[in-house]
Amino acid sequence: MIDNNSIEQLKQTIDIVDVVGNYVELKKNGSNFKGLCPFHDEKTPSFIVSPLKQFYKCFGCGAGGDAIKFLMEFEKLSYPEAIEKLASQYNFTLSYTKGESSGNTERRILEAIGRWYRANLEHNTTAREYLEKRGVSLASIEKFGLGYAPSSEETLTFLQRTMIPFNKAKEIGVLGHERGRYFARLIERLIFPIFSPSGMPVGFGGRTLTNHPAKYINSPQTKLFNKSRLLYGYHLAKEQIYRKKRLIVVEGYMDVIMLHQAGFNTAVATLGTSLTNDHLPLLKKGEPEVIVAYDGDEAGINAAMKAAVLLSNHNFDGGVVIFKDGRDPADMVNTGNIEAIETLFSSPIPFARFVIDKIVSSCKIHTPKGKEEVFNSIKNYLHSLSPFLQEEYLPYASSLLGISSARLKSVKKRESKSSHDSILTLSDIAEKSIIKTLLKTPSLIDLVLDVMDSSMFHTHKSAFEALINGYENSELLQIDFDDSIKIYSEEELKKQLNYFLRRYYEKALDIIKKYDKLPLEKKIFYLRKYKDYIKQLKRGELVPYESHSTL
Ligand code: ZN
Repeated sequence: MIDNNSIEQLKQTIDIVDVVGNYVELKKNGSNFKGLCPFHDEKTPSFIVSPLKQFYKCFGCGAGGDAIKFLMEFEKLSYPEAIEKLASQYNFTLSYTKGESSGNTERRILEAIGRWYRANLEHNTTAREYLEKRGVSLASIEKFGLGYAPSSEETLTFLQRTMIPFNKAKEIGVLGHERGRYFARLIERLIFPIFSPSGMPVGFGGRTLTNHPAKYINSPQTKLFNKSRLLYGYHLAKEQIYRKKRLIVVEGYMDVIMLHQAGFNTAVATLGTSLTNDHLPLLKKGEPEVIVAYDGDEAGINAAMKAAVLLSNHNFDGGVVIFKDGRDPADMVNTGNIEAIETLFSSPIPFARFVIDKIVSSCKIHTPKGKEEVFNSIKNYLHSLSPFLQEEYLPYASSLLGISSARLKSVKKRESKSSHDSILTLSDIAEKSIIKTLLKTPSLIDLVLDVMDSSMFHTHKSAFEALINGYENSELLQIDFDDSIKIYSEEELKKQLNYFLRRYYEKALDIIKKYDKLPLEKKIFYLRKYKDYIKQLKRGELVPYESHSTL
């Protein structure tokens, strides 16, 4: 059967207005939508869909329920059939369990542990003093269910006493297991419980109170806890997001809590990741203006840039707010700068403008080469926007570049610089894909560096070098923006590298054979070596890259 948690996650992804809207023509009516009831014959609409409550209700015939119920009734489907249909519409992968569904047990355990963390907070002076210093009120402690995790031993004792099996506690991410021993993952930390959008406990975040090098850690990914989809505080902000049509994304849990405390109760935070495609369904709900409010340090500005590209590509209203001079929203609330925060939130820099400004400031626009890079990056970025936004930002971008809008609009994508057939040339597409893959999965960098060298890159050499050396480069940004570039899985990446190396050594073998000036001994050595490499490559293995320019 379909796993309950999976159904819960599907429900978080779908929007009833979309689902019903596929079958019934809906018109906006206050905060709800109205249409002619598909379940009875009527001339004036009495069928209401509530995006906030995620259900429909007909005041004529009494039909009502959630999106799944609607599909069951309308399409005459069973419960699992309706779920599967929705999942396929939303491109969502369901997981299945054998026999009895779990999920409820896990939630009960998470609740019990959350209660225990909360109780611990009352007796822990360090944690309470910390909260007081940061200005967190008792009401906020209560509202967000803050707690305290003591030592590993105390946690294990608590679980034993309450007869929670260690393996269950491990499944939900509370315990870890190493060298035959269980240990608590969160030790001597202030606890921020994390909930699903519907308010179910799914995991915990913890801030160190003993200067542990990892300032914040979260529960690991479990079947309940999908970090890349959740937003901290969303269940508390949801109703106000629908009402105020504004959603504020900040970087930290403490920022969320303090903003709520100051009345900015539509604030949420990502869970230690940047904003990604996976967050979009949740951000779209209620169609709010989205304000990305990050710190002014390098990490904050880079994250804001990524978010601005993502949100402008998906036509979100809103913009970016950067907190300058080392300030963050939590401290600004604590020091009473609430009006200043409101001023910032009421005039964010629109996403597209933020991106264009950032591209311009990341390159040396004064040199002809720098200007060309900026020109190309901006052009590609504009291409990724809706036609409306393109028109809107063309004049702005062209005035920054000091060229006419017509030129920025008309020039086609740059052809690759050179077309000569070098054996050191990966195809342009493969180069971009390799770079994009490494941007998305930096852990694969070692794999690539073992078998490649930047000299193998032809068209995108500077982007590859910037990537491995960790500096900014407009071509790299361009690749980062371009959603049409394929991201390889590890397997695909290996295949691509293998394919390239094979071509490389086959050509090299040819060259060696024809190379007269090489002493025979050396010639045999290389012939053998390259033949061996080719054999290994044919078996699907990877071999190191060796430049034969040293011959
Ligand atoms: Zn009806």
